[in-house]
Amino acid sequence: MTDPLNHSYYAATADDWRPRAFDGDLACDVAVIGGGFTGLSAALACAERGFSVLLFEAEHIGFGASGRNGGQLIPGLRWSASELEGAFGRERADALFELCWRDNRVKARIAKHAIACDLKAGHLEAAWTPRDFGAMQREAEFLAKRFGYESDMIAKADMGAHIASPLYHGGIHDGQGGHFHPLNYAIGLAKAAEAAGVRIAEGYRAALDTAKARFVIDATDHWIGDVEPDLGRYTVPIMNYNIATAPLANADDLLPSDAAVADSRFVLNYFRLSADKRLIFGGGERYSQTPPRDIAGFVRPFMARVFPQIADAAIDYGWGGAVAVTRSRLPHIGRRGNAFFAHGFSGHGALVTTLAGELIAEAMAGTAERFDVLAGLPSRPFPGGQWLRRPLATLGLLWYALRDRVG
Ligand SMILES: Cc1cc2nc3c(=O)[nH]c(=O)nc-3n(C[C@H](O)[C@H](O)[C@H](O)COP(=O)(O)OP(=O)(O)OC[C@H]3O[C@@H](n4cnc5c(N)ncnc54)[C@H](O)[C@@H]3O)c2cc1C
Repeated sequence: MTDPLNHSYYAATADDWRPRAFDGDLACDVAVIGGGFTGLSAALACAERGFSVLLFEAEHIGFGASGRNGGQLIPGLRWSASELEGAFGRERADALFELCWRDNRVKARIAKHAIACDLKAGHLEAAWTPRDFGAMQREAEFLAKRFGYESDMIAKADMGAHIASPLYHGGIHDGQGGHFHPLNYAIGLAKAAEAAGVRIAEGYRAALDTAKARFVIDATDHWIGDVEPDLGRYTVPIMNYNIATAPLANADDLLPSDAAVADSRFVLNYFRLSADKRLIFGGGERYSQTPPRDIAGFVRPFMARVFPQIADAAIDYGWGGAVAVTRSRLPHIGRRGNAFFAHGFSGHGALVTTLAGELIAEAMAGTAERFDVLAGLPSRPFPGGQWLRRPLATLGLLWYALRDRVG
């Protein structure tokens, strides 16, 4: 299928890969539906544990959010560690911290399988307001005191070491975060999965009972409602758009430390340099599913506000995708009998999806303790039934977006 939203820098620079031809045999221990980070990670981890695995991908590996995201690797979840502790208590906060901050499964996979995906260290959250900076400072102190987790507070006057933009009131730099080429990471995981014995059927739209399997893993994220309609009620899609400029002679001046940057607006700007020195910039969201006719024209003003010095830079690529967002902004992960699911990473899935896939495999093999930590996160369906759900959620989100403008 040609997808007007996937005219991406990633697709243009993807590693060569085609799965082995599918032999048509639908018998397996584990059927995985979806070939994004979650499904690939789960398939690989299941194969490593000795299960025979068949993975179905309706389009091609990395077709969904995994092959088109901002490539920002941000430790943690959408909630801060102090918010998690406040809501769930000390013991659960400890467990969540160990999994979601400390244990970087993406780095481990990249190292183990020598995946060439332009991995760089360093993530900066940039404060949109002085109040945001204060909150970051308190969180950094909490992380350091409570967990011994180190990050660097960057005062407004020192932001030039990371970013050539006058907009920000300081920030927090996390050396454990970073960025990568997400599609090549997905392809690397697919190659590793195949090498471990996973059979991959691309262009194969599956249902829960397509395979003759002992276990099923539904890793279809934004599309989960097509496979399990009741789970579709737990997320709404928010369309988000990215551009990649032409390679820039002054790229290193824009982001001298080569960190990925996300700012603290509710409708955030996020950006980083590619390996060939393009600025990859995400900004603006749309609550309608219809993409703007000119994605470059839609995103450019956001980029120009952050970096006026490249307001007129040539833009080579523009693309977008659906971010599946839950009510709590925490992922929705669980098990119903022999069917597992993980979705709704709410724009914070580049790291946690690989972890979720591995924890599903661990639970399937009989040790569910760590899986239960993520599966225990609270989630409620959006109200409003099939037709009202999106408009109601959209109203809520527009209110937050308005706060950005007045805040
Ligand atoms: C524009 C954008 C920018 C983002 N930026 C960031 C970022 O910078 N950092 C970050 O942490 N997160 C980011 N995210 C979120 C992150 O990309 C996702 O959380 C993550 O990729 C979800 O992975 P997944 O494997 O669960 O789902 P997906 O990657 O969406 O995979 C689901 C797959 O299932 C397939 N599928 C659907 N139905 C079927 C079926 N019936 N049979 C077979 N296959 C099926 C689809 O084709 C798709 O390939 C971004 C998301 C978007 C859209």
